[in-house]
Amino acid sequence: ETGMRRKLAAGNWKMNGTSAALGELDMLATSHPAPGVDILVCPPATLVSAAVRTVDNRSIRIGGQDCHSETNGAHTGDISAAMLRDAGATAVILGHSERRASHHETSEDVRAKARSAQKAGLMTVICLGESLLQRQATNTLDIIGAQLSLSVPDSSNGQNLVIAYEPIWAIGSGMTPTPDQIGEVHDFMRDRLEQRFGSGVGRSVRLLYGGSVKAANAAEIFGISNVDGALVGGASLTAADFGPIIAAL
Ligand code: PGA
Repeated sequence: ETGMRRKLAAGNWKMNGTSAALGELDMLATSHPAPGVDILVCPPATLVSAAVRTVDNRSIRIGGQDCHSETNGAHTGDISAAMLRDAGATAVILGHSERRASHHETSEDVRAKARSAQKAGLMTVICLGESLLQRQATNTLDIIGAQLSLSVPDSSNGQNLVIAYEPIWAIGSGMTPTPDQIGEVHDFMRDRLEQRFGSGVGRSVRLLYGGSVKAANAAEIFGISNVDGALVGGASLTAADFGPIIAAL
C-alpha cells in the first residue's frame, strides 16, 4: 500500500545560504545515493533561479519556502507562485510554523496560498504541528485535525499535496517525538485525508515528519507507519549531513 508513494526527502534552508551554498547543492546532486527517491531543496527565494541552474536536471527539484495567494499586484516584498514557477521551482513549502508565528499566517491564509500554488503547477508542502503546551494538554490530534482540514485546499491530489507534520517543540531543538507519537499523528492524518478525498487520493498523499531529523534518527523515523519521508531544516544545509538522511529513506 505504501508502494505507490515515492519517498521524499525535503530540505528547508530557511533564511540560510548565499551563492556560496550552491556548492553544497552541486555536491548533493553529484553524490546523492538514492535514485529511487524524490529530493526537494528549498533555498531562500534569492537562490531559486541559481539553484535550478545548479542542479541542472540531476533529479533534485527546487522549491520556495512561501508564496503569496495572488498572482501579482501591490504586495511589496512578496512573491507569487507563478513567479516561483517562472524561476524554475516546482514546489513550495507553505504554512511553516515559523511563518504561522512570525507572519501571523492562519490556516485559511495557508489554504489560499496553497490553492494559488497548486493552480500554478507547484507541489505544495503544507506544514502542520502542535506546540508543547498543546501536546501536554493532550490536544494534539484536535489541533492537527483542524489545521489539516483548514489548510488543505479542495484542489489537492496525490501529486500536488504533501503534508509535513512538524511538532513546533521538535524544530531545531534536538528533541523528537517517540515513534509511537509520530505514528499516531501520521495514521490520523492518513485517515482524515482518506475520509475527505477518498481512499485513492488519500493514500497517495505523502506524509513527511519534520523536526530535528538527522542521520542518527532518520532510519528509525522512516520505519514508522505512514511516514513517507522528512522535511529537514538544519541537517539539509550541507551535502555531508543531508546525504546520509536521503540514503536512509
Ligand atoms: P530542523 O527544522 O530539522 O532544523 O529541526 C525542521 C523544519 O523547521 O522544517
